[in-house]
Amino acid sequence: MIHTADSQQIRDGLVTDVYFERTREILRAKGIDRSVTAEFLAKDFPRDYPWAVLAGMEECVALLKDLPVDVRIIQEGTFIHPFQPVLEIRGKYLDFGRYETALLGFLCQASGVATMAARCRKAAENRTLNSFGARRMHPAIAPMVERNAYIGGCDGVAMGLGAQLAGIEPSGTMPHALILIMGDTVAATQAFHDIIDPRVKRVSLIDTFNDEKMEALNVAEALGKDLYAVRLDTPKSRRGDFRKILEEVRWELDLRGHKHVKLFISGGLDEYRIQELRDCVDAFGVGTAITAAPVIDFSMDIVEVENKPLAKRGKRSGSKSVMRCDACMATEVVPQRKKAKPCSCGGTMVEILKPFLSKGNMKTALPAPREIRDHVIGQLAKIQDL
Ligand SMILES: [Zn+2]
Repeated sequence: MIHTADSQQIRDGLVTDVYFERTREILRAKGIDRSVTAEFLAKDFPRDYPWAVLAGMEECVALLKDLPVDVRIIQEGTFIHPFQPVLEIRGKYLDFGRYETALLGFLCQASGVATMAARCRKAAENRTLNSFGARRMHPAIAPMVERNAYIGGCDGVAMGLGAQLAGIEPSGTMPHALILIMGDTVAATQAFHDIIDPRVKRVSLIDTFNDEKMEALNVAEALGKDLYAVRLDTPKSRRGDFRKILEEVRWELDLRGHKHVKLFISGGLDEYRIQELRDCVDAFGVGTAITAAPVIDFSMDIVEVENKPLAKRGKRSGSKSVMRCDACMATEVVPQRKKAKPCSCGGTMVEILKPFLSKGNMKTALPAPREIRDHVIGQLAKIQDL
């Protein structure tokens, strides 16, 4: 059997920590069911990231829309900072309390993946960035991972179902398996060119048998203008100075009139490695760094009981507004209000934690993955560094 919960089990509240079940049992037995306001926020980010990308909200909404609660959300793809509420649920505790575990799980992992994808996007500047990491995660959640890699800023994702969820075509090159089975890099590349839909870019993998320089020249001679790129997935044990290898391949290709052939690299890349190598690379395939990105530690806390501010130690009570400047992205968390106000930069600070669900009725439509990704890219342009 496969060790994952299905959608129905999650909707039935079966993915929950037992102490929530026991809380429910006690409150029911005592006949207590209070109206509460609960907010979700992260108190800090992994590795001291200065910002994170909010994701996972579409799945939270899928769960919450069947419940008799009012919900305010920040839109997916929005840059967030510690102590900014991203989701607020108002309703009877017994109607939603047991979903705390699942809702946090949606937000924590999706935001972790989207954040790392955005960091890699920033590092890669305008070069191509593809997610290759479906194999590093449980297959049951791989589509979720790929969708969030895309909205975080990847141009493409390798796994078909993930691409479908992101609303794009999957992107890929060729595996070592094809070259090993065909016995020769040029033969495999030629076969790919003969068989595969011409709309798919021809990217030849050139580290299987021989030196990358010679393999690159061989496939470039064979395919000519039809060769889009060569991919170096050179194993660590053979890398030596990877930058020197890349520069040498570029030199030799250019010298022989193959300036159009792009350099695509993969294998053990993260945002820092991308930054180091980007000036001699055109495209990056990132796996583990994005797929197994550190999660963003959101927590859910009650901040009002029966409409009165009440919170545990270490938490600010009361419902809040998250005000963000539409120009400079300055952010302020204040007691809930609806009025926009001017920012010191000349922009306007507007509420971004907006009403979304009222007893199951959606107030606005959810954005498409493409729109969420555009939102991320727009904000990335406003920040200086990782
Ligand atoms: Zn401003």
